[in-house]
Amino acid sequence: MLVVGAILDIEGARPAYVRFRHGRVAEVGAFGTEGRRRGERVVRGIVVPAPVNAHTHLGDSVSVREPPPGPVSELIQPPHGYKFRLLANASHAEKVTAMRAALRRMEKEGVAVTVDFREEGRPGVELLREAARGSSVRVLALGRPLARPVDRSELARLLAVADGVGLSSARDESDDTRLRVARACRASGRKFALHASEAVRERPERYLDPHPDLLVHLAKATPDDLAAVRDDRVSVAVCPRSNALFARQPDLGAMERLGLSVLIGTDNAMFHAPSIWREMEFAYVASRLRRRPVSAAFLARAALVEPWVWLGEPESALVVPGMPGTPMVLRLPPDDPAYQVVTRTTEHLMARSTPGTRRRRTARG
Ligand SMILES: [Zn+2]
Repeated sequence: MLVVGAILDIEGARPAYVRFRHGRVAEVGAFGTEGRRRGERVVRGIVVPAPVNAHTHLGDSVSVREPPPGPVSELIQPPHGYKFRLLANASHAEKVTAMRAALRRMEKEGVAVTVDFREEGRPGVELLREAARGSSVRVLALGRPLARPVDRSELARLLAVADGVGLSSARDESDDTRLRVARACRASGRKFALHASEAVRERPERYLDPHPDLLVHLAKATPDDLAAVRDDRVSVAVCPRSNALFARQPDLGAMERLGLSVLIGTDNAMFHAPSIWREMEFAYVASRLRRRPVSAAFLARAALVEPWVWLGEPESALVVPGMPGTPMVLRLPPDDPAYQVVTRTTEHLMARSTPGTRRRRTARG
């Protein structure tokens, strides 16, 4: 398959062609120099690294109803919030089935990796692993120990199956809990992440100490807080749709201006489908609605580039022959790639580059 149009990756957007062989990138070159081969399928479009969903709670997909009214604290606060009651009342089989369906949806939308906050201790992570078996979506499972004060052996058992820990927030947890969890994650080479400044502003001195690998939300952070996060070189996962449900928004314009490393995620699966493309479009439009516009290029980076850098795999964000994995082909007009990708991508515009799954339709852009 030959894609003629543009590449949008870690090096930005540029006119180009990409030739695929057996689903892998075989050749990349300057637009207009591609040369045609007989019988080769030609698609006009944009080639991008596979997206990463940087923040999910897939376990929440057991709920399929409109969330009840009330403040977010009553809905998602551990251990007695609405979502924790739902999780407690759902059977193992129900949770696995719901998580599997959520992963299938992500698979269809081309998501390569999801970074999931999995509550319910080690058994919670084990259910997620069971749901993800056979899925093409790689799951980075950030589990949560149950006992407070933190029990050393419980934490060790959790980290034996999890990729790290995702805590509720600095406000919900003691300094001692954060310290113990961060230390154990660091010692075992795992990730330490937590929510921060979601419903109310929290002081950066607290959520930046001990040094986390990832902060989620920062919807209530001030520009000074954001500068402190940037100076400590901590990445942030933003979830604009989830925040909007409770009348708040991360200041994406300020994050871009200040030069933060921003990733994007879809948060609680009980509120929204885990669609990274819908999240990106909403983020773009909502930032303009608030008159704090963020660029499409910044949001595209948040889904397609920054998470790969965060994972320590920047080579997955560069479209070249021999790159790991398969980039996505989007049948979109290639003239302004970031804007097109952020505002228009839907599942039916994804062209499959692997033989056997190819579609009959030709590209219209
Ligand atoms: Zn969350």
